[in-house]
Amino acid sequence: HELLAGQVAGAVVDARAYAAERARAEALAELDRAKTTFFSDVSHELRTPLTLLLAPITDALTDAGGELPPAVRDQLALALRNGQRLKRLVDDLLEFVSIESGRTAAVRVETDLATATAELAGVLRAAAERAGLTLTVDCPPLPRPAAVDPRMWEKVVLNLVANAVKYTFVGGITVSLRAQGDEVVLRVSDTGVGIPAAELPALFERFHRVTDSPARSREGTGLGLALVRELAALHGGTADVESEPGVGSTFTVRLPFGEPDTTAVPLPGTAA
Ligand code: ADP
Repeated sequence: HELLAGQVAGAVVDARAYAAERARAEALAELDRAKTTFFSDVSHELRTPLTLLLAPITDALTDAGGELPPAVRDQLALALRNGQRLKRLVDDLLEFVSIESGRTAAVRVETDLATATAELAGVLRAAAERAGLTLTVDCPPLPRPAAVDPRMWEKVVLNLVANAVKYTFVGGITVSLRAQGDEVVLRVSDTGVGIPAAELPALFERFHRVTDSPARSREGTGLGLALVRELAALHGGTADVESEPGVGSTFTVRLPFGEPDTTAVPLPGTAA
């Protein structure tokens, strides 16, 4: 009897712990939803006045730029740069919350990913070379097209290559793409400053930045890598990093080749 009583007591404790755990998980999910809504509302509210603020500054610099006293022009240019930076942050936030709230789905189309990736990496070649870095593109043709959302793939590649340029001072960046089983594997390696091991676990969290990391520019929001991981996840894929301080970093994105989205349109006369 004692054994049975003990088992019943144990089960009651288990059930209570389970109920408490569930309540906690629900409260956290609710909090997360509230946060997403808050971010979304604030970002929308910021975007319009920001656009209205930037337009006249842009106009003043383009229309009357030559006639303005140099000091005024410099100050306007500074205001414009910072305003644009704020706008990028707001745009990133909006993109982020729309993914988190499930409003954004990947629209997969069959893509020649090797060509697309080489072209995207090429967009940043000039920036890399201006910084005295080499940019090597190693994207041989893949055995078959991959079904990805092209706009999302663009974000993934540009974010990773831009980061590599930003955090590399000597050497260069290699962008490689390979098929591995059912997956496409993108690797962006650099010979940059690297990331301390203690920072790696939180690196893909939103707003996480390595505060004492030397960088080519301090511009950034800490949203880039979080977006990369979310976009990979929307394709059923993953994003990871390996890094050694002073040696360099390799970011790896794996996506299933996937199937394109086909919207079933019934042929005329065949509808049930
Ligand atoms: P940020 O806007 O700060 O670049 P990210 O989310 O893209 O935000 O990156 C988060 C942090 O990860 C950066 O602040 C930087 O410290 C680190 N990081 C990202 N890419 C690299 C890289 N290629 N080499 C070294 N550190 C990097």
